[in-house]
Amino acid sequence: MSAGAWRHSMCLKCFRKRWPRRKFWGWQLPEKLRSWETCCFCSKKHKDGIHMKKDPQSKELKCTIQPEILPE
Ligand SMILES: [Zn+2]
Ligand SMILES: [Zn+2]
Repeated sequence: MSAGAWRHSMCLKCFRKRWPRRKFWGWQLPEKLRSWETCCFCSKKHKDGIHMKKDPQSKELKCTIQPEILPE
């Protein structure tokens, strides 16, 4: 499965950061379909299998790849 331009790959950590209360399992691929991806938001490699659709209505879901400002 390749990440198309219409969606973001997102790690669980970034998901939680943005939406602390939102359920993530609706967005998550079954474990066996997941592969290593780069998180759009922190550019870390992850295997959390979360894909968010790009929503033109929402400014939340912009690719913000700025790895240097992310404290680990
Ligand atoms: Zn993205
Ligand atoms: Zn991330």
